[in-house]
Amino acid sequence: MAEPVVIKQTFKEDVLALMARYSEFGATPEGGVNRLAASSEDKDARNFLCQWLENHGFTKLIDPAGNIFGVLELDPSQPDTSLFCGSHLDSQPHGGRFDGTLGVVIACVAGLTLKDMIDRGEIENSYRNYVVACWTSEEGARFQPSLLGSRFFAGNLSKEDAWSLTDEEGISLKQALSDIGYLGTDTPPKPDHYLEVHIEQGKKLEDAGLSVGLVSSSWGARKLTLSITGKPDHTGPTPMAVRKDALLAASRVIVEVNGLAQRSKDDLHSSVGRLNVEPNSPNTVVSKAELWIEFRSADEAQLNAAEEWLQTMSTEISIQTGCEITQNSREVRAVVTFDRTANGKIRKTLDSAAIPNLSLTTIAGHDALQLQSICPSTLMFVRSKDGISHTPDEFTSDSDIETAFDASIAALSALVSQRLPM
Ligand SMILES: [Zn+2]
Repeated sequence: MAEPVVIKQTFKEDVLALMARYSEFGATPEGGVNRLAASSEDKDARNFLCQWLENHGFTKLIDPAGNIFGVLELDPSQPDTSLFCGSHLDSQPHGGRFDGTLGVVIACVAGLTLKDMIDRGEIENSYRNYVVACWTSEEGARFQPSLLGSRFFAGNLSKEDAWSLTDEEGISLKQALSDIGYLGTDTPPKPDHYLEVHIEQGKKLEDAGLSVGLVSSSWGARKLTLSITGKPDHTGPTPMAVRKDALLAASRVIVEVNGLAQRSKDDLHSSVGRLNVEPNSPNTVVSKAELWIEFRSADEAQLNAAEEWLQTMSTEISIQTGCEITQNSREVRAVVTFDRTANGKIRKTLDSAAIPNLSLTTIAGHDALQLQSICPSTLMFVRSKDGISHTPDEFTSDSDIETAFDASIAALSALVSQRLPM
């Protein structure tokens, strides 16, 4: 049985103080942050992080995707191994101040705490490096796909493909990173394990009355675009029967996509999150509509079936409305199972440290999903009030943050130590 880990109170105070500090970068009047990837607000937050890392003995590295790494040497006599911990600093437009930031802040202070405990001989260590990772553009708000930096790092997106992604204004990721001074050339160490702490974005922890949980698996996703082509005509004199209204076709698709999820009794979630129309004039029948559709489920078969259903349903709506509809896949996100051995080990440690925890699944995407494709990864969730996220109302209490920090230190201690049985 592991001994309970005792953490200096000053480290917890550092976590809360840093959370308050990061809330200032891109702060909105509603109490959230507006910190789109590679924006000037993101630059300010990144600069603060880099300065903090350098002030606290970390070696700062920036890779070609703008990911920031802070490498802290724990023990140079150990074989070349690195324990990674991190999350992201970018936000949704007018998003919350905890999503992503909490994971970066905890990763930073946890590194110092861990080193302090190792240096004092309080825990055994088998790693050479501890690495704070801050991933570029997790949110997918300004540049798509989401999980951009971690996707590149995991080898699931090439440098050229990443650089050529553009935002709504046609600015490439390469240009945007260069503009804020974060187009790096460094190669970070290879991760042997990755831990991410993140707010839950759901109510399971709140319903259970618990502060933290370990995520065992994620839902998969299918992200698609439907392009609908109708015919531009005068909205007045054109007889109703001859109109080819792309927005009417789009509206029917939106209702059907919602209906499919409603009938699945919550095994499938669906959404249409973006609708572009042309010419978007009050007096012209809509000639082009583009829909951004998502299906999410824990069941791959259900996701494949949803994609096929969309094709059939689009064909029917195409016949009804006279519009041409084409379907394109933007992203296939497989169901991911997190490393069971590491999760089991960490769960035992949390139990012996008297930190009650829940086993959870995640519907939302997280950088840890990308990391799990290259190294054993662990995703820890922290209670988020009313399960709200991506809005200024997002809230996690100081006491839950402190418990999450305790749990992170317990988890990281278990990972670096060889004393605990696997
Ligand atoms: Zn996030």
